[in-house]
Amino acid sequence: MNYQALADLLFPNVTDTPESLEERFPLRNVPEGAVITRMAPSPTGFVHLGNLVQGLTSERMAHQSGGVLFLRVEDTDAKREVPGAVEVLIDTLKHYGIQFDEGATHDGDNGLYGPYRQRQRAGIYHVYAKKLVSEGQAYPCFCTEEQLSAMREQQEANKETTGYYGKYAMWRNRSMEEIQEQLDAGNPWVLRFRSAGSIENQFKFDDLVKGKLTITENDVDHVLLKSDGIPTYHFAHAVDDHLMRTTHVVRGDEWLPTLPFHIQLFKALGFKLPKYVHIGPLMKMDGNSKRKLSKRKDPELALTYYKAEGFPVEAVYEYILTILNSNFEDWRRANPDAPADSFKFSPKKLNPAGSLFDYAKLTDVSKNVISRMDAAKVYTLLTEWAKEFDPDFYEKLASDPEYATKILAIGRGGKKPRKDLAVWKDAKPYMGFFYDEYLEAPVFDEKFDKATVLDALTRFLQKFEIADDSNTWFAKVKEITEEMGFTSDMKAYKADSAAFPGTVADISTFIRVAATGKTNSPDLYTVMQILGYDRTVQRIQSAMETLK
Ligand code: GLU
Repeated sequence: MNYQALADLLFPNVTDTPESLEERFPLRNVPEGAVITRMAPSPTGFVHLGNLVQGLTSERMAHQSGGVLFLRVEDTDAKREVPGAVEVLIDTLKHYGIQFDEGATHDGDNGLYGPYRQRQRAGIYHVYAKKLVSEGQAYPCFCTEEQLSAMREQQEANKETTGYYGKYAMWRNRSMEEIQEQLDAGNPWVLRFRSAGSIENQFKFDDLVKGKLTITENDVDHVLLKSDGIPTYHFAHAVDDHLMRTTHVVRGDEWLPTLPFHIQLFKALGFKLPKYVHIGPLMKMDGNSKRKLSKRKDPELALTYYKAEGFPVEAVYEYILTILNSNFEDWRRANPDAPADSFKFSPKKLNPAGSLFDYAKLTDVSKNVISRMDAAKVYTLLTEWAKEFDPDFYEKLASDPEYATKILAIGRGGKKPRKDLAVWKDAKPYMGFFYDEYLEAPVFDEKFDKATVLDALTRFLQKFEIADDSNTWFAKVKEITEEMGFTSDMKAYKADSAAFPGTVADISTFIRVAATGKTNSPDLYTVMQILGYDRTVQRIQSAMETLK
């Protein structure tokens, strides 16, 4: 068979050569050890936590090493494409701090290694398809759907592995005449790889996450080009990652089963194999067993979920670092104020079986992250969230930024900042009472009769002065405690609780419930300082009315 003639017959219009493409896309001028990597999503519109895990892993590897992160859109499956999906992906990842240096953009491309949308690269794939045909490494296959299903049925009946291989590879060794005849008849064809592999042979392969793998050679003549001339993922990624000078392919481990074919393909094309970083799926506990997070069952897989709940971006980012690199938490403890991207990320620390997603842990991380922010930042992020998800609360916050910031400053700074907020959704229940419209009616503990509560509140109002410092303020609460026969001596109370009607904690709670409508609040002295004299007194008086 004259393979060159076959190549010319199948690809008469391809005049470019692999050599000219090598020149057009030269090796990148980057420092030794720089990681060139990419995200290569199919534009299906759903951006999930897995994308973020992959994005963060690639971004860290690229930017930590002085390399490049680019975005390539794998749009070869037009049926699955959702309009606007690329824009959503770019914006969402950017929101989470992952920025591409190069690649597809909202309205085009940015970079010298494009085009970055696969459908626009058909001509490039055909250059390599032609080369493979001219070397006898690929051939056209005219099998119909019916023939392929009949083949599969027969293989199943024989209990054989299904697929287009060995004796089943019907078009592997056809003559030029037979091929010409089909072409003349206008029959559609796909281009198949002529595999020289055998399942008898195994070899070792090192994956950066999975470690040493033993791989069985591929013997299937996989499809390289579909009948419309559009490449399959396998072929397209090999060509693209070579020409875009990718050094590391970071992707989900659902691609492991076809890795043997990919390795074979790079070799057949004369390309240097990139390093592979196969990330395991995100898992969660379901009862006592682990399972993959699923789009259908788990709303927390979608990134929109975190936005609506009000997790700050930094918290989600830190949480992902926490689950990907087990040493991140220790690092964070040792470097509480360092930016998260100064942590040395390592793909080798990823769990080969996939990371466990744990909502409680995320909440914990988020509380810590928010507790380290200053009040002005909390105000900005909270109002941004509320504007979209709680407009009424937003109005209140935005009507007096200084007041809201003062509230948000309570317990911030210092060695042990308060950790009241895990998500912005928590803010209203936490601080809503500062706004009169959200103040709840006071409910006093029925253990104490109304007269006692009234007595305590009356005494408090007599003594309350806004200019008092917190010690004086608290000394007054203690005075009231003693005057009413309650005790400030918790030990004495524990030893003989029947000797006292209650403690200083009960007196404080009466005042707290009257002033805030809640049994729990941030430091009551500070609350009153922020409310001011008139509002505090007026609230306590209204509460007293309910007791009369
Ligand atoms: N388009 C493939 C996917 O979305 C990309 C895999 C890769 O990164 O190579 O799964």
